[in-house]
Amino acid sequence: MITHPFTYEAPATIDDAVKALGRSRETKILAGGHSLIPLMKLGLAEPEVLVDIGRITALRDIRSEDGAIVVGALATHRSIADDSKIAATLRALAEAAASVGDLQVRSRGTIGGSLAHADPAADEPAPTLAFDATIRVIGPKGRRDIPAREYFKGTFETALAPNEIVVEIRFPAPAGRSGSAYAKFAHPASGFAIVGVAAVVGLKADGTVERAAIGVTGAAAGPFRATAAERALVGTRADASAVDAAAAKAADGVTMLSDLTASSEFRKQLVTVHARRAVERAVERARG
Ligand code: FAD
Repeated sequence: MITHPFTYEAPATIDDAVKALGRSRETKILAGGHSLIPLMKLGLAEPEVLVDIGRITALRDIRSEDGAIVVGALATHRSIADDSKIAATLRALAEAAASVGDLQVRSRGTIGGSLAHADPAADEPAPTLAFDATIRVIGPKGRRDIPAREYFKGTFETALAPNEIVVEIRFPAPAGRSGSAYAKFAHPASGFAIVGVAAVVGLKADGTVERAAIGVTGAAAGPFRATAAERALVGTRADASAVDAAAAKAADGVTMLSDLTASSEFRKQLVTVHARRAVERAVERARG
């Protein structure tokens, strides 16, 4: 039950939503409600004004534009998992979205909500980092494009200002011979990622790795790029020993979380194993 009183607004445009956000310091955007409503029921979020952006239908679109796939903030996990453009070019994102919770959660929860909430165990931040996506936000001062690597700041922390709205996420379509994959070790009850790894690999004509990007979620206070593993992979032929050696570096320099679900040692091992699986599948797909 939600016990505190609040005002509900449902603007039809982004401009009106931005104005509504400015009316009180205790305002919250409502998207799919699958993170915010549970927090309100627990009394952990008590907004004075709830700004429901569900009527801004343009924010649900998934489109191709200037060599990028642009995913509206209100695209649900389910619509992302089912989109043919995303399946063809951003497979790791499709797989991450398909792995979120259950059908009900996937049908209501949105990518914008997931990235704004920034739960350290959320799935979509991993491919967002690995594809070097840009998060487009609009606030009272206008529009800002935030590169994914500057966006995630830690547990429930992002570069988003309180009165800014995530409007879309722009994923550059990987060029040339490339492949991607998402490998996850899911919490058995909630489905959240205890560890999730998204890998994006680009190959040269001779089969050596030209580009490698690995985004990791669930393992640490926030999602991160496994840069030591990426460096270890580039220039190799991505054979089993090269992939193993790179995956072994995927947790390098990062403090692993330790909680009732998994110790830091176990999480480190999960990162290694899932980095190997994600890279292997990405390479296989790049080879075609
Ligand atoms: P909301 O709950 O509406 O909002 C969440 C927060 O983001 C709020 O603070 C809100 O103000 C803010 N916000 C929302 N949209 C915007 C926007 N466009 N701009 C700025 N701020 C915004 N997630 C996973 O990743 N993996 C899982 O396996 C998983 N399992 C789940 C299982 C259950 C049972 C439940 C209830 C949730 C689970 N989730 C999981 C979380 C789910 O994916 C949420 O839908 C998602 O994290 C938040 O999206 P939402 O649209 O529901 O956002």
